[in-house]
Amino acid sequence: MRAPAKINLHLGVGAPREDGFHSLVTVYQAVGLYDDVTARMAPDWSLGVSLPDWMDDDAVPLAGDNIVDRAADLLAAHHGVERLGEVHIAKAIPVAGGMAGGSADGAAALVALDRLWGLNTTDEDLLALAAQLGSDVPFALLGGTALGTGRGELVTPVHDRGTWWWVVVPSDVGLPTPEVYRHFDKMFPDAPTEPVPADALLGAIASGDTWALADALHNDLEAAAIDLRPELGRLIEQGEQAGALRGLVSGSGPTCVFLCGSADHARSLAADLSGAGHPVVLAANGPVSGAHLVSYA
Ligand code: ATP
Repeated sequence: MRAPAKINLHLGVGAPREDGFHSLVTVYQAVGLYDDVTARMAPDWSLGVSLPDWMDDDAVPLAGDNIVDRAADLLAAHHGVERLGEVHIAKAIPVAGGMAGGSADGAAALVALDRLWGLNTTDEDLLALAAQLGSDVPFALLGGTALGTGRGELVTPVHDRGTWWWVVVPSDVGLPTPEVYRHFDKMFPDAPTEPVPADALLGAIASGDTWALADALHNDLEAAAIDLRPELGRLIEQGEQAGALRGLVSGSGPTCVFLCGSADHARSLAADLSGAGHPVVLAANGPVSGAHLVSYA
């Protein structure tokens, strides 16, 4: 299974709800930066992870704490079957980077194991299991561009005929999502109950105009992420000075994304930011499909 990263084109955050989650209005976009999840039949359960050179060796938890273990447990319990299989994750999505890499692996594991165990889970049940796994997991199944409400788990596809180009700059140290939300609550104790609606962003997507999209990008968590990591503010300024149409913290950060006008523009901005000393700079287009099967034997 191939599982894409996401960025939030719009992230409106409301005050915390009674269950502790914040209500969100978000527009997700799946972008062409992928983890690969492989599942094989085996007499017991095991999980392996391989990481690119630039990722920290202990970035991804193993031994029961991985979201893939939890996905397998949920699916097995839902059908009353035993959790068996040999699963491998080849990571490429920055960990704890605000790009939902863990959620992408969780979604891919649900679909891979459903297939491996011959369960034929309905789409409705898969989406419900995904929502139990995490707020971003239903979107990771759906992919494309989609509106997320509730705590982000209620997803509706958005018609998006554009091809948008992004430069993605991960940070070498992750930023835990709960820490960013706690900081947001401290900085904005009077946040409105209802999150900022996504109308402007949806209008920009419908127009297909890259400058309109640049103007409409919105992230309520950006100020909190930058307050925790002032270097992110400097990175966004640097990217915009180097010609990005707009720079933005991705979700809860610390990954920053830069909107470009074309594939060539993205490649040239990526080269400039690499040349300026950022060790990992990636170019990706969106929207792309959600978690999907690429080979089956
Ligand atoms: P989001 O944008 O959904 O808030 P994120 O991109 O900031 O998430 P993830 O990469 O999804 O963060 O990882 C969040 C945490 O989940 C990590 O710190 C890690 O401990 C844990 N985790 C569990 N399983 C995985 C996995 N397969 N890949 C990455 N992280 C995982």
